[in-house]
Amino acid sequence: MRNKVIAGNWKMNKVLSEAEKFVQEVVDKDPTGQGVEAIVCAPFPFLAPLVEQTKGTSVKIGAQNMHYAKNGAFTGEVSPVMLKDLGVTHVVIGHSERREYFAETDETVNKKAHAAFEHDLTPIVCVGETLDQREANETMNHIETQVREGLKDLTDAQIAETIVAYEPIWAIGTGKTASSSDANEVCGHIRNVIEKMTSTETANQVVIQYGGSVKPANVDELLTQSDIDGALVGGASLEAESFIQLVEAGK
Ligand code: PGA
Repeated sequence: MRNKVIAGNWKMNKVLSEAEKFVQEVVDKDPTGQGVEAIVCAPFPFLAPLVEQTKGTSVKIGAQNMHYAKNGAFTGEVSPVMLKDLGVTHVVIGHSERREYFAETDETVNKKAHAAFEHDLTPIVCVGETLDQREANETMNHIETQVREGLKDLTDAQIAETIVAYEPIWAIGTGKTASSSDANEVCGHIRNVIEKMTSTETANQVVIQYGGSVKPANVDELLTQSDIDGALVGGASLEAESFIQLVEAGK
């Protein structure tokens, strides 16, 4: 049985005091249970204090991006070594906003996935199609390319540990959720692609999240689908109360 993993992606929102208040509410409520994990993916400046605040609790802290190099002359960047040293456990890689606005490609996603494992961080690798691609019936091919390129040359054991987030770009922040059966179809396709790359056993271990306008009102239906093991949530992860409800839905 795969765990359900609910990850909040705050994007570029909140100030430190708001971040700490949110995390305190979640920690106090302790909404996780057996088989359910909660991760808060916060902006870089909040990571150190939030890791401190969540020590000894079930809430994990993730980053929203990182560079793939260990260190060096990359002004403004943050390395996997720095994240690991702080106690960060997860890192979102290749979010569609990073691909669109910051020139991330399947190649950089792959380098970052390798770097994450080298430094004992769990990557949350995002894939997803545009509306044009969906309308042109290119979704399945596009997703297959992103999965194959993004996870290229990882070992089977590393792929088994990877979290893949399927986020149709047209559903992010738009209020339009993919229907649960459409979302499940693509998540099942991702698992089939991984099966072809590795083995049935490995593919069955991979946690595949859906993301795109997930909220308390639609999370139950999404999580009951056979290949959806969690959610990567933007807008509805900004309020502690709704994040808590999302995590509780994983039980
Ligand atoms: P949303 O964002 O939940 O606001 O649609 C999801 C994401 O971008 O990860």
